[in-house]
Parts: sequence; structure tokens; C-alpha cells
Amino acid sequence: MRSLVLLLILAARPASAELLAAAGKVDISPDLSRHRIYMAGFGAKGRRPVGIHDPLTARVLVLREGRTTVAIVGLDLLGFYRNDVLDLRARAGFTGEGRYLFVSATHQHSGPDTLGLWGPFIGVSGVAARYHSELKDKVAAKIKELESALVPASLEAFSAPTDPRGLCRDSRDPVVINPYLAALRLKARDGKALATVVNWSCHPEVLGRTNRLLTADFPGPLCDQVEEGGGGACVFLNGTIGGLMTPDIKDDKENFYEAQRIGSEVGRRALKGLASARKADKPALSYASKTVRVPVENSRYLSFLPALVFGHKLYDRDGNALPKWKTRWLALKHVLLRLGDADRPWVETEVSRIDLGPVRLLGIPGELFPEVAVGGYDGKFRAGHPLIMPDNPDPPDLAKAPKGPYLMELLGAPVPIVVGLANDELGYLLPEYDFKTRGTLTMLPRMPGHYEETNSIGRSATGIIAAAAAELTSARK
Ligand SMILES: [Zn+2]
Repeated sequence: MRSLVLLLILAARPASAELLAAAGKVDISPDLSRHRIYMAGFGAKGRRPVGIHDPLTARVLVLREGRTTVAIVGLDLLGFYRNDVLDLRARAGFTGEGRYLFVSATHQHSGPDTLGLWGPFIGVSGVAARYHSELKDKVAAKIKELESALVPASLEAFSAPTDPRGLCRDSRDPVVINPYLAALRLKARDGKALATVVNWSCHPEVLGRTNRLLTADFPGPLCDQVEEGGGGACVFLNGTIGGLMTPDIKDDKENFYEAQRIGSEVGRRALKGLASARKADKPALSYASKTVRVPVENSRYLSFLPALVFGHKLYDRDGNALPKWKTRWLALKHVLLRLGDADRPWVETEVSRIDLGPVRLLGIPGELFPEVAVGGYDGKFRAGHPLIMPDNPDPPDLAKAPKGPYLMELLGAPVPIVVGLANDELGYLLPEYDFKTRGTLTMLPRMPGHYEETNSIGRSATGIIAAAAAELTSARK
């Protein structure tokens, strides 16, 4: 009887339909003569751009199989909050059943403030409202255009470790560098590449705090390399960049030459990996996403709650939506009296997965520490560096580090991909065992070696998000 039931279930599952795909890009650089732009990243110092070195781009891949349509967007921006993702879904017509829009920011640090954190002074938003809206219109229009240009496609994909030395390093102990480079390629019937999606993990901050030219940083040359190498339209999706993956630049030269060197090298390696990639004939497409709520525990986030409200829905601990005036009041109350657990607001965010044949892509709404995804507490991913710097005044207690299995193993797919800053940006997502902060209102002075805590929503976030990821990946389709 049981086998009969199983047979019936199998019979009820339709065979996968032909995969359709289309990809392209649109320039989202702000017109500096029309918009008052402040640059995102490196503290609110009123940094304003003087020109554009290379265009900021939204790169879009639309996939359809049967009744399922998934659009994947990579944005050359430092971050893109959940409210904007929901707005973009509405503008692009991705709200109905069987339709999913996945958005990830590359996290480049030489673009416009899209999070409201880098205005002329601390606490003042640097978002140019009209630009912010126009940018969403441009991306929505591109998605719609591509959706009407879908053609039959085949898939090739790979994931393999690549030596990070000279490309990316870890500035926080323990040294765990996620070495995985993954790519998937969609090809048209005539064998021509339609699109290549590349996933690798590093902060696009080759250009540093003194740069005043807008640039996509290394993801720009990375995609140029892929496109010039016959990869079709390139979409770069950044990976696990917390804790803290920073470009391995020569002699601390924060310059365009180094961005070009790193980007084009990673692009070349992606093309090389694809040359011997696994082919999937009729890859099935599916997705799932889960809305989760995370408590706002970081004292700095609580003091600047209106900035969080710009990008999120906030709730009280009983799940009631908080009106705007209440979040202002809570911020003031926190500054004066410190909020207790009963008053603590919770922020709504999203964890998601997309399955495409052998590829399973997990979307994490922030800057995940690589060790949460790959482990490496045994030194497996230290790439020749010491696991703990001998002069670290407050080294992590590795005996307390979590044992596994880690997220990448939980994905259980031949080509596992973890994408960071997916559909939101909650800041750093740290492993709880090494989360240390000062109890002061500003969380300053920073504890040596613990910078990331001050730009994290709180110590509970990683556990909540990892549990949602485990749930999403436990049942395959
Ligand atoms: Zn960052």
C-alpha cells in the first residue's frame, strides 16, 4: 500500500518543462547633475562623488520552467533593504503565485547611499529620493523587457574551491576564507551563452574611504571579463563576506588597477571552471522563501531606529506592527533609559532558496561570517595564514565554536551557493560564540578584533536565520 501511495505521488509530479531564460543589464548610475548623491560606506562623513569611473549596473536573469518564473537581480549597490525589494517586486509584477524576484546587492563601497546611513551628518539619511525611485523603475522595466524575450536554455554549473591568496583575505580571527567559486551558465539552443551567474565571497572595497568616483569596484571588471570571454550577460552575486573578507590588495594600494586585477582574475577562473562544468539537460526550477523576525539588540541600531524603519517593517515582541511614531519614541527611550526585552522591536526579513537542476542557492539577508557557512575552525580554510594571529589580544575561544554540519553541507546539492545581502541587508551575521560588545550606548570603544558586532543587528540574528535556512533546505522541493 505504501509503495502504491509513493507511486501515485511520483506520477502526480509533472516532468520538468523546458527551461526558458533571458538576461541583460541596465545602467543605474545616478545622474550627478540631477541628484544630490552621498556615497555609502566608511562612516557618515558626507562623502560626495565628483564623477563616475565606471557605471553602476543592475544585472538581471529571468528564468521560467513550467508555471514557475524566477528573476535574479544583482545590484551594484552597498545594500538594498527589504522594503525596497517588496516595492521592486510590486513594480515588476512579481507578487503572484509562482513568481519570485530575488535581489542581491554586491555591497560595493563606492556607490550612492541607498540605506539612509551616509548623509551629511551621522543620523541624517543620504538617500536621494527621486534617484532611489527611478532606479527601481529602471530595474523593473528591464525585468519586464527580459520576461518578454525568454528563449529555451540549457544549464551548466560548477562550484569548486579557488586559492584566495592575492584576491581576498580575512581581517578577523579565526581566519576562515570561504574558498568556493561557483558559476552557472545558461546557453541558448544554438550553443551561444545567454548568461553567466558568478558567486564568490569578498567585500568590494578595493576603492576605499578617500575615493570620490562612483565605481562598481571589482565586480565590474569581473563581469567585463566574463562577458568579453563569451559568457553572455554576467550577474555577480556576492557570498559570505562577514568576519571580514576584504580584498588582498598589494601594498595597501586602494586603486582601480587592483580592482581590475582582482575582478578579472576571478572572472577568468569562473570561465575556466565552466569549461568543465556539470551539464543539466532539463533542469527543474523551484523556490521557497520564509519571512522571519529578528530582535533589534544592537544599541546603535536602537538609537537610530528611524533608519531601520526606512527599510523595514518593525514589530513588537507580540507581533504587532509598530507605527512610525512609536519607533521614534522607542529610539528616544533607548537613548535616555535603555530598552529592556519587553520593549525591544523586531525587524522582519526574509530567507530564501532557489533550486535549478543541480544548483541550490540560499539567500541570506546580510553579511554572513564564512565560518557559519563552511566551518573551518580546524584551520581548513586559512589559506596559509595563521588561524589566530599571535598578537590577537582577545582571541576567539575555538573550543566553543559550533561543530557542524554547516550551512553549505545542509544545502545538500551538487552545486551549493550561499548568496549574501539577499533581499535585505541586516549587517554582519556573526557566530554567537564569539559575539562580544561593550555595554555602552554607542557600543564604543570597540573591543579590539570585534568591529563587526557594532554593525550587526544583534547576537540572536544568526541563529534565527540559520534555523530558517535549515528548514527551507530540509525538504527538497
Ligand atoms: Zn560590509
